[in-house]
Amino acid sequence: MRIAVVGLGIAGLSVCARLALAGHDVSGFDQFEPMHANGSSHGDTRIMRLTPGEGEIYVKLARRAHEIWRTWEGLAGRPFIEWTGGLMAGPRGSPFVAASQRLSHTPAAIMRGDAVHAMTRGYIAMPYEWDVFRQADAGVIAADAVRAFLLKQAPRWGAKLHHSARIEAPIDGLVLKINDEARAFDVVIVAAGGWARKLLPEFAGKLAVKRRVVGWFESPNPRMAPVICADNDEGVYGMPAPRGFISLACTPSAAQPILTTCANRMPRMQHCSANMRVCCCQRTNPNLCAWRVASTRSRPTNISSSRRAASTIAFCCSQPAPVTASNSRRCLAPSPKIG
Ligand SMILES: Cc1cc2nc3c(=O)[nH]c(=O)nc-3n(C[C@H](O)[C@H](O)[C@H](O)COP(=O)(O)OP(=O)(O)OC[C@H]3O[C@@H](n4cnc5c(N)ncnc54)[C@H](O)[C@@H]3O)c2cc1C
Repeated sequence: MRIAVVGLGIAGLSVCARLALAGHDVSGFDQFEPMHANGSSHGDTRIMRLTPGEGEIYVKLARRAHEIWRTWEGLAGRPFIEWTGGLMAGPRGSPFVAASQRLSHTPAAIMRGDAVHAMTRGYIAMPYEWDVFRQADAGVIAADAVRAFLLKQAPRWGAKLHHSARIEAPIDGLVLKINDEARAFDVVIVAAGGWARKLLPEFAGKLAVKRRVVGWFESPNPRMAPVICADNDEGVYGMPAPRGFISLACTPSAAQPILTTCANRMPRMQHCSANMRVCCCQRTNPNLCAWRVASTRSRPTNISSSRRAASTIAFCCSQPAPVTASNSRRCLAPSPKIG
């Protein structure tokens, strides 16, 4: 049976590798070069949660996915997931936090936001009135490392991977047009991420591509950073990243007000603070990268004292450092492009 996999992001690569290991005749196609940064899969880290509070169906999927991650770890002879634990947080009564606790196999009590400050030795501060569930089975995946591993191994297991091979949209049946050349398959699997709407227009109404703005925060002790998922309007989530950074993402509409707030308050806040700072990096287009620094007092009661601050997760650093041209360049990782 000839199987085609359209798209070689992490999903398509995993499918190719699994099918090849099972002895199938599988060919994978991607429009770009290996390890490209145009889809969703590139980057150092991704959050892994075995008990996603978004719903029970995701718990089943996450646990099944975890089995597959463990297969890759076993075959690679190295871990790809670091279990840092996670803080699932949200305003009081958050259904997401409650579900994270309910669905967890090791339920712990829901804490108040200010407990996080002490628990992380002042490293993370959250609004006092927030609910926070400390989830043990959360961590970070070494995303690019897994991609590199599968790109190398899948061909060794027999998968035929083709790059710079664009499949014409829409896909209609089992004959694919690959760079204008038609090829027939017995099975076609589409793993095209954000492009699926073009390739499979019948699903377009059910799929939406949403942008997230990611910032990299310098961290004095990145190993202390847990995964964070916040059930707030800004859709904030964050995780430890290599080279002493933690990454933090939020909706584009939230990023600009946060940056503006930081810029406006920076001089005063720097003056009154010695031990806390927040950096935000926003890429509004591929050539523009803006950095801002804000400092504020470290007591969590102060963080919840204004509307803006009430929905802000603040990461504390012991030594505020000035933002310079050199550290602003560190955020030049490409943002996802959906073409
Ligand atoms: C900034 C960011 C942060 C994220 N954080 C997390 C996280 O913490 N935890 C988590 O679980 N998930 C996270 N995600 C989501 C996760 O990264 C994605 O769900 C995952 O990478 C999707 O992989 P994919 O292979 O389905 O898609 P993609 O990586 O987008 O791959 C799709 C591939 O299909 C190819 N393709 C498309 N059309 C064609 C065509 N016509 N012909 C040939 N090839 C084609 C593309 O070139 C691309 O390589 C995040 C995503 C982003 C962008």
